[in-house]
Amino acid sequence: MNILQKSAMLCVAFASTALAPPSAISFARGPARPEAVRKPAEFRRVLVGRITVIALSDGSVTVPMGTLLSIGPDRTAAALPRREEAAGYPLPVNAYLVLAGGKLVLVDAGCGTFCGPTAGRLVESLRSAGYRPEQIDEVYLTHLHVDHVGGLTREGRAVFPNAVVRTDAVEAEWWSNAANSAQTPEAAKGTFDAAKAMLEPYIAAGRFRPFAKGEPLVEGIRALAEPGHTPGHSGYVVGRGRQKLVIWGDLVHAVEVQLDDPKITIAFDSAPAQAAATRQGELRDLASTGALVAAAHVPFPGIGRVGRHGSTFAWKARR
Ligand SMILES: [Zn+2]
Repeated sequence: MNILQKSAMLCVAFASTALAPPSAISFARGPARPEAVRKPAEFRRVLVGRITVIALSDGSVTVPMGTLLSIGPDRTAAALPRREEAAGYPLPVNAYLVLAGGKLVLVDAGCGTFCGPTAGRLVESLRSAGYRPEQIDEVYLTHLHVDHVGGLTREGRAVFPNAVVRTDAVEAEWWSNAANSAQTPEAAKGTFDAAKAMLEPYIAAGRFRPFAKGEPLVEGIRALAEPGHTPGHSGYVVGRGRQKLVIWGDLVHAVEVQLDDPKITIAFDSAPAQAAATRQGELRDLASTGALVAAAHVPFPGIGRVGRHGSTFAWKARR
């Protein structure tokens, strides 16, 4: 399967969840009204040395994990604590606010309206933590899939009107290159279109500034190349030395499965072998350093550490 077919699957997966009636979303409990399936806004603070990081929930989106993971539905069902989640896995969507270098830096922007009624509540979570969207100084994107950029813009207007938006230059080039979009099947063009639409107000205002490898960001945060899920996928490292937290982005989608076997990839990966190697290497580093992790798709707040589990790894959620 090539990158274009995988892009198509990404769109289909998100489109199908966005179009599903609330009663079809396994995450939903109680009355099947859209407003009833939304969980309240959530935030959680954690200190990394002297830097405050606030986990913000965007909600969750149900995906057919069994058909997305490279091991297929039967092995996915056997590996998950709840077999039925192979057909409908409630993928959490988390973003992180970092108070570093005298700035408010938001890492990823959630789904906006792209993932259906159970997601898109990032701004509510931000407000419940005591911050307004206008206060955000910078938005750092791990990559340009819709569950990370979909909350940047609403009805053509920047949701974070005073923010500079940044991502790896390789990532920005991939999704803005018309040649890549032109070679994409019609059904998959949505990912390119969404990235373009979400970035457009920031580009128009001169506030979309991709960064080169090694370019300094706000003091206390640096980018960490994690290629494979997308060409310029990046994590972000907050703090340094023993006081360090690594924001993963999409290094892992099924934490119950991919730490035990990091070779397992997901259909959204643009270069699966590279994604697996990136994951294996970073898990090994984290298991030896014991650094904190903040993960976009691990149950909220998505904060924990990577431990050893025999010859592989295990997730240790921070309580
Ligand atoms: Zn994602």
